[in-house]
Amino acid sequence: EGPLLVVQDLQKHFPVRGGLLGRTQAKVQAVDGVSFEVSKGETLGIVGESGCGKSTTAKLLIGLTEKDKGDIVFDGQSLGPDLSLKDLRKSVQMVFQDSYATLNPRLTILDSVAFGAKVLGLEDPAGLASKMMDRVGLDPDRFAHRYPHELSGGQRQRVNIARALAMSPRLVVLDEAVSALDKSVEAQVLNLLNDLRAEFGLTYIFISHDLNVVRYISDRILVMYLGEVVEVAPVDSIWAAQAHPYTRSLFSAMPSMDPDNRTKVPPLTGDPPNPINPPSGCRFHTRCRFASEVCKARAPKLAGLSENAAHLVACHLHDPASGHPDAGQGLPS
Ligand code: SF4
Ligand code: MG
Repeated sequence: EGPLLVVQDLQKHFPVRGGLLGRTQAKVQAVDGVSFEVSKGETLGIVGESGCGKSTTAKLLIGLTEKDKGDIVFDGQSLGPDLSLKDLRKSVQMVFQDSYATLNPRLTILDSVAFGAKVLGLEDPAGLASKMMDRVGLDPDRFAHRYPHELSGGQRQRVNIARALAMSPRLVVLDEAVSALDKSVEAQVLNLLNDLRAEFGLTYIFISHDLNVVRYISDRILVMYLGEVVEVAPVDSIWAAQAHPYTRSLFSAMPSMDPDNRTKVPPLTGDPPNPINPPSGCRFHTRCRFASEVCKARAPKLAGLSENAAHLVACHLHDPASGHPDAGQGLPS
């Protein structure tokens, strides 16, 4: 059985105006050659600093943003030749962070949840909505006729989840879906998402800046830097040992990390470089303490570690043939 989603060399460059009188046409390389797969039933977490391209990647997947290049293959069908955007959208739903702004303030909760199902022409959208409300922990008798402003943030996010699931998606893309919630509510919603995944056989892409949240919910973690994938690995593997210098810095900056561990890795300094004019070769070389000449000259390719083929990294330190002075030795501890 093949993967549910295959993303191949996805690219999106946004034109921006710059220079004197705004006459210069430049491009922000928001997503630049991103490839990954998601298996059926798995949760893939996507992490990285703000502006790394994780949200743009999500929007490309559901056609909210049009790609410049690359292939999106859903359940063996290629978007474009085999599969229309309209059909893809029946199978892929998205849940965003701002639960209030994403709900129509003039629709009751029941109508909000039923809306997408109605648009898709599903049978008995109101009955479906009522069932889904119940399933996400919102008693339809109490909540059906209320309005979004009468609900708490956690309740509104349950509405958004119910609305997405009422359309019977197979893949749900969650972009900072719990980031606006209090810690206790966040845990409840994460547990709910885990239960729903199992019950409905869903597959998730879970985007967050919060590594602890991503660890809790994901099977694998994908790390992006400046529009590119730098590391993808099973959660346990990446938690035990980050293979990319950027990932290690990201993890070591986590507030809950063991303080003994944290002191060993110097924190990342400086902002990410300008995505309009990203560094040559490895885009991380301007912030990497292991950078050598080859890093400026050539971009490393994503490849499996010799000791664990499921753990992919794009760094010359791990490639014996890269020409880096420490090639093949991996990331020094
Ligand atoms: Fe650092 Fe070079 Fe590896 Fe890039 S390829 S992360 S610059 S060592
Ligand atoms: Mg974002």
